[in-house]
Amino acid sequence: ERVALKQFTGRKTETADGMQVRLAANVGGPEETKRAAEFGADGVGLLRSEFLYLDQKAPPGEEAQFEAYRKTVLAAGGKPVTIRTLDVGGDKEVPYLDFGNEENPFLGCRAIRISLRKKEMFRIQLKAILRAAAFGEVSILIPFITSLEEIRAVKVQLEWAAQELREEGRQFSSEIRLGVMIETAAAVVMADRLAAETDFFSIGTNDLTQYVLSVDRGNPKVAEFYSYCDPAVLRSIRRAVHCAKEAGIQVGMCGEAASDPLLTPVLLSLGLDTFSVPPSSVLSIRRAISLWALPEADALTEEAFSLGTEREVRELLEKHRRG
Ligand code: PEP
Ligand code: MG
Repeated sequence: ERVALKQFTGRKTETADGMQVRLAANVGGPEETKRAAEFGADGVGLLRSEFLYLDQKAPPGEEAQFEAYRKTVLAAGGKPVTIRTLDVGGDKEVPYLDFGNEENPFLGCRAIRISLRKKEMFRIQLKAILRAAAFGEVSILIPFITSLEEIRAVKVQLEWAAQELREEGRQFSSEIRLGVMIETAAAVVMADRLAAETDFFSIGTNDLTQYVLSVDRGNPKVAEFYSYCDPAVLRSIRRAVHCAKEAGIQVGMCGEAASDPLLTPVLLSLGLDTFSVPPSSVLSIRRAISLWALPEADALTEEAFSLGTEREVRELLEKHRRG
């Protein structure tokens, strides 16, 4: 199998009938970016910026972040890089961002909610990203969005960050696309309006599954209910993709579902533009995509959406699994 997979290194990512899609990588820094680039990934679909903030005594400064982002941008070798702003809270605790003990941290101070409360810290991150954007094509991705107000508040901070850089005479690029993670129930419901005010979507099925099904993604007692094959999750994905297409913006997926060949035909049929997967899955997903022609993927997807339970959907997709 390894030999067969190797053939997919550096190839275009396309279906059996020639539809091309973007296959990018989820990474934590420049090393993984290099690895993904060696497989021929189309850049970085998700740079998790948390690594800079965890295991520290204080938030990283602008220079340290700028250097880290710039290194990743350079490691991508001219391909686009999507940098996700800080996504902590939930299970990722950061001592210097103390919001006290929360009974339900996954429903509490997390990700963009923290950034919008610590605006100065947020602007430092935005400035570092804008500066790194002078070295390649960079997009900003905002995690855990639940409302339009949040994305509007982000734009205000982005403007302000650019203004500060201008005043400081820094080199930066303000031509930066702004996207949101679709990973909460509210974001799915509001996807039409979010699409009108953003440049792209990235569907985060790890959290989307948790928040649509009300199942803690880390609780073994309810693990049996945690499945992105659940019709409620698949319909959420379908709606998010549909709203993006209607608005003419790009839509990708960076959750684990994107790297599961079981879902590949469904995601192709829905019209996902970007699959973003761990470097170790780049070749296997490129192969899985190559094994489907669109009419077959469409037929299977239509059948999958006619079913009402997770079990039925999973059994159907398992039966037709390729790759
Ligand atoms: C997701 O929620 O699907 C995602 C990609 O983000 P994370 O797993 O980092 O929460
Ligand atoms: Mg997430």
